Amino acid sequence: MSYQGVLDQIKHNQNKVKRFKKHNKPKDRDFGKAKRKCRRCGRRGRGIIRKYDLYYCRQCFREVGNKLGFKKMS
Ligand SMILES: [Zn+2]
Repeated sequence: MSYQGVLDQIKHNQNKVKRFKKHNKPKDRDFGKAKRKCRRCGRRGRGIIRKYDLYYCRQCFREVGNKLGFKKMS
């Protein structure tokens, strides 16, 4: 479960939200895979395509790749 997902689950309880934000905030990173995000769905981590400055995750690339003009994707 992602950080945002947990926040959605506990948003009814402000005290819980405060405590969760204090202790479980993701680090602000200067580099690394946790910094890069898919521009379509916001997914982080592995499988982000940076080639040609795409910044799509592999799942979104499968759906959008055709419209971007990619004819062969494997
Ligand atoms: Zn995506």
